Amino acid sequence: MTSDNRRTVEVHGVDLDIPLTTGGHVGGRAEVVDGRPVALPAINPATEEPVTALAESGQEGVDAAVAAARAVFERGDWARKAVRERQGILREAARLVHEHRQELALLESLCAGLPVAHLQRRQIPRAAFNFEFFAEVIGQMAGETFEQEQNFLTTVTREPAGVAALVAPWNAPLALASMQIASCIAFGNSCVCKPSEYTPLSVLRLVQLLEQAGVPAGVVNLVNGLGGVTGRALVSHSDIDRIAFTGGTETARQIMADAAAQLTPVHFELGGKSANIVFADADLERAVDGSLVNMFSNNGQICIAGSRVLVQRAIADEFTERFVARVRHLRVGDPLDPATEVGPLAYAAHRDRVLGYMQLAREEGAEILAGGGPAPGFDRGYYVSPTLARVDSNALRICQEEVFGPFATVQVFDEPEEAIAIANDSDFGLVAYGWTSSLALAMQLQSEIRAGTIWVNTPLLRDLRAPFGGFKQSGIGRDGPRQCADFYTEEKATIVPRGDFDIVKMGMD
Ligand code: NAD
Repeated sequence: MTSDNRRTVEVHGVDLDIPLTTGGHVGGRAEVVDGRPVALPAINPATEEPVTALAESGQEGVDAAVAAARAVFERGDWARKAVRERQGILREAARLVHEHRQELALLESLCAGLPVAHLQRRQIPRAAFNFEFFAEVIGQMAGETFEQEQNFLTTVTREPAGVAALVAPWNAPLALASMQIASCIAFGNSCVCKPSEYTPLSVLRLVQLLEQAGVPAGVVNLVNGLGGVTGRALVSHSDIDRIAFTGGTETARQIMADAAAQLTPVHFELGGKSANIVFADADLERAVDGSLVNMFSNNGQICIAGSRVLVQRAIADEFTERFVARVRHLRVGDPLDPATEVGPLAYAAHRDRVLGYMQLAREEGAEILAGGGPAPGFDRGYYVSPTLARVDSNALRICQEEVFGPFATVQVFDEPEEAIAIANDSDFGLVAYGWTSSLALAMQLQSEIRAGTIWVNTPLLRDLRAPFGGFKQSGIGRDGPRQCADFYTEEKATIVPRGDFDIVKMGMD
């Protein structure tokens, strides 16, 4: 059914209300799309049919969104609200995300091709929890006092930084945008979000739910469009106080250059090429299970993928045989089917890029052990086969460049020091995985690998109280309670005398 600018689509018994063209959401209202250039359609990666079309917000749309965010910030409707009231609204937001989890999962799956079962089990609950978590964080925040000089009290308080630009990618749209939004607005800031042009709908619905929860109009605004047009207009804007960006390393370089003109502080969560090290003393079954989860979740489009599997020689044949068998059995299919483990890649050009790396693997002399091309049996959709390539050198481009798809390499090592050297031989430093029953080996990884997170005998588990982010070109800054407080607030020191004291008299005879 269609009416005005919307149509209702029934998916899995749920009526989804989908705009035909979306121009974003500014100051509490859907942006008018009339007269705006249509940037590009958002395509369902499973069917190759258009889901919605984006109106490019461009400079004009960005100006309006930043002005709306600034106006509400200056009025203090949110920034000066009592902490317990902000907490209540953030908790209500979490509740609403949870209540709408099926709708949100379907909207996200339609644009991103992510398996709906994975979204409902993991990503949407995580999006809800991000709001709950930051509600708790602001309830625990306290200022500091210093009393080194007996007659003076120095207090340190925090104020929200102002208006933030939040730029998110397409691989986990809600989980990532909700982390940016929750950590930003919890401290009283306003923001303008720019979701990926490939996945605009689930984040748009989130913004509506936030307003339903009681977040005042204008606190969270959303603009749409191409990275190089609307994204650039946003991060270059002179009235932006902070930029949080999750995405690719090359894009980050451009954003940092644009931010330099205003000296806008940046927070970057970027790419990875992480090692997944399996030692001879590991529980092999668990190592295989965990390696599959950390590599092929999210259709392999996951920044924390353990995409360089390093396996110790004594167990290399047995591990590889078991791993290859399981990779070949991964259920590739319709993301709306609850049994699907790996869906299509997010868009056609990305599918082609990933297929290009499979070809490059052959050209570089790697041996393809599983997959290696388009997934068989599909006459439409951007499906590729989960792929494993055996390599004998970490210098290959397929071991150095982030593929960001269901593509992993396997390399044999002899000594732990060799595995650690290979793990560290990368421009990235996001995470690393180790599988071993030796505490000493685990601790050696912990101290010698240059990465922001080390997972031992576990895939992907995160405690949001711990910082998350990357060494080297995997990022700048960390997500985490103290780290986000530091990024999204300005600290202010105030010095007050406790009683009378002498002030040097200048300018006297
Ligand atoms: P991308 O860098 O192409 O795009 C990310 C976002 O930036 C999109 O919204 C895009 O429109 C926008 N953008 C692009 N150019 C811009 C510009 N010049 N100025 C402002 N905005 C611009 O990344 P992607 O392809 O969407 O996402 C994949 C990348 O994200 C991978 O490298 C992946 O590793 C990384 N990632 C990192 C994390 C993390 O937490 N470290 C999490 C998820 C994804």
